[in-house]
Amino acid sequence: MDLYEYQGKELFKRFGIPVSEGRVAATPDEARAAAEELGTQVVVKAQVLTGGRGKAGGIKLADSPDEAAQHAEAILGMDINGHVVRKLWIEQASDIEREYYLSVTFDRGEKKALFMLTKEGGIDIEEVAAERPEALARLHVDPLEGFQPYQARRLIYAAGIEDPDEQKQILTIVQKLYDAFVGADAMLCEINPLIVTPEGQVKALDSKFTVDDSALYKHPDIAEMRDLEAYPPEERAAREKSVTYVKLDGEVGILGNGAGLVMSTLDVIALAGGKPANFCDLGGGGDAQGVVDALEIISADPQVKSILFNIFAGITRCDIVARGMLQALDQTKIAHPIVVRFDGTNAEEGRQILEDAGRDNIHVEATMLDAARRAVELAQ
Ligand code: GDP
Ligand code: MN
Repeated sequence: MDLYEYQGKELFKRFGIPVSEGRVAATPDEARAAAEELGTQVVVKAQVLTGGRGKAGGIKLADSPDEAAQHAEAILGMDINGHVVRKLWIEQASDIEREYYLSVTFDRGEKKALFMLTKEGGIDIEEVAAERPEALARLHVDPLEGFQPYQARRLIYAAGIEDPDEQKQILTIVQKLYDAFVGADAMLCEINPLIVTPEGQVKALDSKFTVDDSALYKHPDIAEMRDLEAYPPEERAAREKSVTYVKLDGEVGILGNGAGLVMSTLDVIALAGGKPANFCDLGGGGDAQGVVDALEIISADPQVKSILFNIFAGITRCDIVARGMLQALDQTKIAHPIVVRFDGTNAEEGRQILEDAGRDNIHVEATMLDAARRAVELAQ
């Protein structure tokens, strides 16, 4: 789960990493009030789950509360890389002497946390990595040894940070960032830029914080930070019902059981000349309620013109899935043509149940390719 800048900064603050004081605002009036309370020059920052806000015009300095309100007016509703701005972070503006970059992420190859630090912050880190790799200091942390201060010092020297006062502050920040990374079960903690003010204070001016979804159960306070409004309504419904759902942009809705089968169903739809509108993965289940939930979510997408129901039953039984389907069609008003391909355990019984039900929007096909062709045809 990706956190907004202001949420990441809240965690930074909790772990003792210096950040500027600020307030969240959702309207120009709230932005004005926030600026009044903060009582200094402020920076008005779009809160979206994407980078490059500065370049897109989503970050503006304001000298007065009225100016903060004007900037808020301009930034709210702005589209930044496909993300609409609905919230702002208003913080006390900082004077910037230098911009560095510091991050800790997972290096899956090494199976270790990896720190990166460079004095060339503020810009695209990929650019630095590609063009001046020697400027980017790296450090792996052994999870068994844990993190030692001497390692942080080595990282700081390697990055070429020579001022003793800066070294001292960055050493503390590196250690606290590791605490935050481990403590919040993060996949990424990035500070770009990590600034040095003219007075020599080092602090985090931005935050990019990604928490491992699988660990959210351990962190109810972080799980609560999820902004459901940032997701399309079907994705919200899927999340509530714990159904795996992914939105795509074609016209055939796909329901399958198991990630591998679903992926190959996407390929077969493409082979048949169509495009998937979305997909739901029933996983190993396939009980009636699971089928009802999945069909409701798939058919709620207005782009869906036909549905391909692809089941390869191992533990799942096709007769149970067939009954679930009929139950779903009774409970909902799904009128889309549904093409069904059953294989595996009790496939024959499942097909028989559907046939006996005599629904004219259900089309049974024997193979995956035939089913895909039919679904694409029916979507025309
Ligand atoms: P990003 O563009 O999404 O990465 O957003 P950042 O929070 O990193 O801000 C982008 C740039 O805006 C920074 O690199 C700074 O140059 C500038 N900026 C952000 N906050 C301040 C501030 O408080 N004072 C000044 N002078 N510039 C700021
Ligand atoms: Mn940034």
